[in-house]
Amino acid sequence: MTFLRFVTTLREVERASSRLEMVRLLADALRDLPPDEAPLAVNLLKGQVAPEFEGVEFGVAEKEAAKALALALGRDEVEVVRAVREKGDIGAYAREALPQRTGGLSLRHVYDELRAIAEDAGPGSQARKRERLARLVAAASPEEAALILRIVTGRLRLGVGDATVLEALALAFLGDRSKKPLLERAYNLTSDLAYVARLALEGEDALRAVKLEVGKPVRMMLAERLAGPEQIMEKLGSHYAEHKYDGERVQIHYDGERFWVYSRRLENITHQYPDLLEALREVQHEPFILEAEAVVTDPLTGEMRPFQNVLNRKVKHLTPELLEKYPIKGFVFELLYDRGEALIERPYRERRERLERWFRPHERLELSVKRYVETTEELVRFFDESIEAGCEGLVCKKPDGEYEAGKRGFKWVKYKRGIAGKLSDTLDLVIVGAWLGRGRRAGAYGSLLAAAYNSDEDRFETLTKIGSGFSDADLNEVLPRRLGPYRRQERHPRVWSLQEPDVWFDPVLVVEVEAQEITLSPGHTCAFGVVQQGRGLALRFPRFVRYRDDKSPEEATTTREVVEMYHNQWSQSR
Ligand code: ATP
Repeated sequence: MTFLRFVTTLREVERASSRLEMVRLLADALRDLPPDEAPLAVNLLKGQVAPEFEGVEFGVAEKEAAKALALALGRDEVEVVRAVREKGDIGAYAREALPQRTGGLSLRHVYDELRAIAEDAGPGSQARKRERLARLVAAASPEEAALILRIVTGRLRLGVGDATVLEALALAFLGDRSKKPLLERAYNLTSDLAYVARLALEGEDALRAVKLEVGKPVRMMLAERLAGPEQIMEKLGSHYAEHKYDGERVQIHYDGERFWVYSRRLENITHQYPDLLEALREVQHEPFILEAEAVVTDPLTGEMRPFQNVLNRKVKHLTPELLEKYPIKGFVFELLYDRGEALIERPYRERRERLERWFRPHERLELSVKRYVETTEELVRFFDESIEAGCEGLVCKKPDGEYEAGKRGFKWVKYKRGIAGKLSDTLDLVIVGAWLGRGRRAGAYGSLLAAAYNSDEDRFETLTKIGSGFSDADLNEVLPRRLGPYRRQERHPRVWSLQEPDVWFDPVLVVEVEAQEITLSPGHTCAFGVVQQGRGLALRFPRFVRYRDDKSPEEATTTREVVEMYHNQWSQSR
């Protein structure tokens, strides 16, 4: 396929009026590709040349890309860098500045060149990257160049979610959108969209045969929430509850030689935990995949410290001083793979037994504390003990529940303390629009339109307008800087809204929000018609808490969870 056809498809996708149309456009383009190019196109669609977990980055800042553009144009570097900064979008500037020509690059050539740019490292790589990029841009049409420059600078944001890509792949290669669950399963086990595309091309049997692999992150299983202990007992019956530790969730892979650590968003964060890996290396010698909560402990007392402490390890170069100041302990709660055997389809009880047999003690490693509870009283007692031990509460686990990769279901239910006059849990919402401020807020955003994620429909449904909880710095600097790149003229096709904000955004930024109550509302689309005909759900007295950069938009609170929270809000017993 020519790169131009790909570029044209993406422009159409950006302008699509509905998600279904996006799916159809993508499926048509994928079907037209030679089979070996489909996986490349899937990667490029996400603005990458390898799955996210491989951490292959272009390492080209906007200024460097502008210098490459100057080289391609044969113009003065300083002048082009300044012009790009003024325009605020390197793609748009390239489209205007480059001479009209047909280009005619092939998709494979562009992919190979981009990959070479990403993989070039070490001394002199900056200059080599710039020259290679300049050659590519010089051979491209203005439209092609615009897309290439957006990709390398990390500014390609189509708002095409993974679910949309999977649906397009199902339609293109299995002939039917309803075959999506097959692809979803493969994706949940491997987290690699391009790999799933390759399998889909081979057919349904290849997709069914997918197994988890050491080194490829498994999309994490997530917990649902319920109002309180009675509801949990009612839903799960007698079950195992575990302390809920307040750290960073890590999935650790070991193939007998090498370790990989993946975050909740499946980023490769191996470099953040050298001490934890050293501990594992001392006590485990066979391949495994485990999940644990990594918690910073007090260097003197050994007590657990709150989550925020983990953030101190999120630096490029962890020094011995930092490791000493923020020592880590891993509370292991899952064993997904043990010496060549995948365990995720086994019931929790069996996985846990296996984990307990497998586990070897170490001062940096502990098993999550668990207890079998049969009555509400026992559950409440265990909850109180967990708080006393410095935990956030409990995660209640169904004894016969398998590990459902990539799903949030009732096989795990979290039990946290509610605060009087507030919803017991905060919500993670996606910003989809904003109103401009007046008075003291003139020139900044006054309030933001926030949405929950409807995972069945793969769309974002609004449920609140947030105006409070922001500092002046948030309003004047942080929000414009963070939201600026996602601004768009019209509503994004995956956003469903009855509100008309002054500006729209691609659904990208996730924020944590607290509120007092969930009410019925004719003005919001969240779970519209689910609780009552003609009404959606809305938050009362919403307040911004913090940015959730660790969550992708598809990991925001789902509309189904909001409905649960709506029903449960009056029955909070604690
Ligand atoms: P979520 O991960 O459910 O989207 P979140 O990141 O806000 O939401 P919580 O809702 O507070 O986290 O709770 C779920 C998280 O609790 C898990 O992702 C995991 O990181 C953490 N956790 C701590 N202890 C355990 C445990 N024993 N079993 C499972 N998860 C645990």
